[in-house]
This record gives sequence, structure tokens and C-alpha cells, in this order.
Amino acid sequence: MNTLVPRLLPLLLSFPLTAQDHTRGYDDTPMLPGQKWRVHDAARPRPPKVDPGAAAEEPAVPPSDAVVLFDGEDLSAWRGRDGAAKWEVEDGAMTVNGTGDISTEQEFGDCQLHLEWRAPTDPTEEGQHRGNSGVFFFGRYEIQILDSFGSQTYADGQAAALYGQFPPDVNACRPPGEWQTYDIVFRAPRFTANGKLESPAYVTVLHNGVLVHDHRAMVGATAHRAVAQYAAHGPAGPIRLQDHGNPVSFRNIWVRPLESAVSSTPRTR
Ligand code: MG
Repeated sequence: MNTLVPRLLPLLLSFPLTAQDHTRGYDDTPMLPGQKWRVHDAARPRPPKVDPGAAAEEPAVPPSDAVVLFDGEDLSAWRGRDGAAKWEVEDGAMTVNGTGDISTEQEFGDCQLHLEWRAPTDPTEEGQHRGNSGVFFFGRYEIQILDSFGSQTYADGQAAALYGQFPPDVNACRPPGEWQTYDIVFRAPRFTANGKLESPAYVTVLHNGVLVHDHRAMVGATAHRAVAQYAAHGPAGPIRLQDHGNPVSFRNIWVRPLESAVSSTPRTR
């Protein structure tokens, strides 16, 4: 009888062949509808890297019709979990400080959003704990913020991913400590009067000026280790920024509400 297998068994068991963590990903999560990958699939290829070039020295001036959400001065456009937003504001930037997510006072439907973010310069963590934040439209549809310059995580959880749904087409991350831009066109989902999904959310994202999602249909409201689902909601909602426990900074945030292009209601002139 071959005695090698019994002798090797304890060794094999000490090195699990399955991937179940926030750095490598998972192989026990549900399949994404219409895709050949699981949610946070460990086997999903990481997007190729693209060097987006150096960051601009100064933030660009918002267009004249933009609603300015943060100009470096104060958090008056935002609210925190207990009322006023309490993130630290210093040197023209606001920084996550453990006081919880913040959301815009104003609600938005279809819109164009510009924001700039910066991952901490001294990342001591890996995977999903390395410069994690995120921007959520309607408080529930997340475009991930993460330091994906030097760190690996599952593909649908890296910077600019539609978290848990689609990786960005390429990884256009700059190093931690450098300012990065997101320019996002968000088209809200539409629901029928009895709450059925009529049209999904569509998202176009440029990361540091590089197109990473081109009018991509979202699977549903962002979920962790589960398939995203839609739940009917109204035509507008807040934009939320995530406090994931990492001191990510933001500056120059503005939004342009857009006239609907996917409304089921015929437009009259
Ligand atoms: Mg996040």
C-alpha cells in the first residue's frame, strides 16, 4: 500500500486549495448572472495596468453649471450618520477619520460626477483594507475606491470596479499619495409603478482620464459576497462616500444633474 498519501495529507490540509479571503478572492460565492465569474472570483483575471500619466498639480475648475459638493473649504453639502459630516478638512482636502460614511444633503438622479481621491501614503494593509473607500450613487451603487497601484485583490473589488460586479477594463491607478480622478456618468435605473425593474443603472467611468467602464449595466445595488439585486426606489438619491476605516482623502467634487436619456416617459416639448 502506498503510504505517501496518508503522510502528505496533513500537509495538504494545511495549505487549503480554496481561495477565501479579501486579498485573493473567493471560490464559494454565487455566479454573476450573464458572466462566467463568481462574485469576487479569485480566478477572474486582474485588468492590465495602464500608466495614466502624472496628476495635475492643481484641481481643475468646475464647469459653470456644476453643483459643487466640496471645494476644499467645508462639508456643508454633506451629512454624517448623526447629523453633520465630521470628516477632517485640511489643506483643501477632506479625509476619512472613522466617523462613518457621509452623504450629500441634495439628491441626484442621472448625473455626471467628478471627484478626486488620494490613497494613504503609508499603506500597511493589503487587499480590501488598503485605501478602501467608495462612491455610491443613490447611496447604494458603488464605484470602488482602493489603492490598486501596488496591491492585489480580487478583480471586481479593485479601484474603479463596479464593486462585486465588473472590474474596470484596465487598472489606471496612480501610486498612493497622488491625486486620482474619477469622472462618472451615472444613469439611474428605472422601475415600473409596481416596482419592477424597467431599465438597469448604466455607468460610464473614466479613471485618471482613462475609460474603464463604457455605459455598463449594473447588476443591482452593491453587495458583498452576494449577487447584487435591485430594489425599487425613487428618481433621485444621495451620493455617499464610504468610511471603510482607511484615511482616504478627497478634493474637488462636483456634479452636473443630467436630463434623462433612458426615461420611459416620452418627452414633450
Ligand atoms: Mg469600498
